[in-house]
Amino acid sequence: MGKVVQAPYDDREALAEVVANSDVVTYEFENVPAESASYLRSNGSVLPPPQALRAAQDRLAEKQLFNKAQIPTATFWALDSPEELGQALDATGLPAVIKTRRFGYDGKGQRVVHSEAEAAVALAELSCGGGGGMGLIVEKFVNFTRELSVLAAAGADGETVFYPLTENHHRCGILRLSVGPAPELSPTIQARAEEMANQLIGLLDYTGVLAIELFESRDGELLANEMAPRVHNSGHWTLDGAATSQFENHIRAVTGLSLASPEPVQRTVMINLIGSLPEVGALAGISGAHLHLYGKEPRPGRKLGHVNVTGDDEAAVTANAAKVWELLPDGASSGRFPLA
Ligand code: AMP
Repeated sequence: MGKVVQAPYDDREALAEVVANSDVVTYEFENVPAESASYLRSNGSVLPPPQALRAAQDRLAEKQLFNKAQIPTATFWALDSPEELGQALDATGLPAVIKTRRFGYDGKGQRVVHSEAEAAVALAELSCGGGGGMGLIVEKFVNFTRELSVLAAAGADGETVFYPLTENHHRCGILRLSVGPAPELSPTIQARAEEMANQLIGLLDYTGVLAIELFESRDGELLANEMAPRVHNSGHWTLDGAATSQFENHIRAVTGLSLASPEPVQRTVMINLIGSLPEVGALAGISGAHLHLYGKEPRPGRKLGHVNVTGDDEAAVTANAAKVWELLPDGASSGRFPLA
């Protein structure tokens, strides 16, 4: 094992030590301060580029980047003062989603509002501690048919590979379950999503794995919601379901190696283990279930691991995934099995 440097993100001495001991630095957590990543970059190689991290940390910058890359999004409005609320809602219509611009992930820092009065309450709550400006963004509520994500890997030499789109199911804004490849995936949708990823890769001069979360509408239109400049939870199925996992392709990309096949080898349903763990003995009895643990202390809302349920027969994989779902200790808060 290499040297471990453990220090606060803004500790310049420690950052210098990291750079001095590394050929390339990468990250797998979105809230690494972009300042620290840029500092590392000025002294060595950091991939994916810190500008991607910077954009992903601010929902407004992210949406503006999508628009610059000609990637469609829900109509949005940057809310800088409470007086603009009426104007913002005129632009987005109702219902709308009000979100904090920064540090909002896993559904934190956002509210769906159905009236201007509800919006005023949400605005007051969400803007607390927002610093100088309001730091909010108002978005049109998208009546999507399903949520998908595209995962791309971009190599140092301009080579790119794309995984088949993943279908994602959230509860309370947290990813609970993904299906890879997404069922009933049309080549048109796949191609459109790959084009979006390509546009961002070109614009950001991107190297590494990139994920874009998408809404699919009834007429097959795709809108981008968020990007993640890193390996992504919705790509965890590739550990057991693809010829090469997203993790391997990320490391290949940032170290300048050629990329390897993203082809799916089995239908996979990925179930997140959140807050507490199911009984391992019972899981082991479910056909095709592969347990991945992260070695974290259980805490409400914390992702502790995931189970990939794999197989060649779609119906059997769904049935086995339902058995895993029934073992989740937080069953009540997880709700109904999403694929039922
Ligand atoms: P986010 O934190 O932006 O990833 O949002 C978390 C989840 O909230 C998404 O995965 C969607 O399920 C939902 N959501 C976010 N934005 C919108 C929107 N504009 N319209 C409808 N649902 C949304």
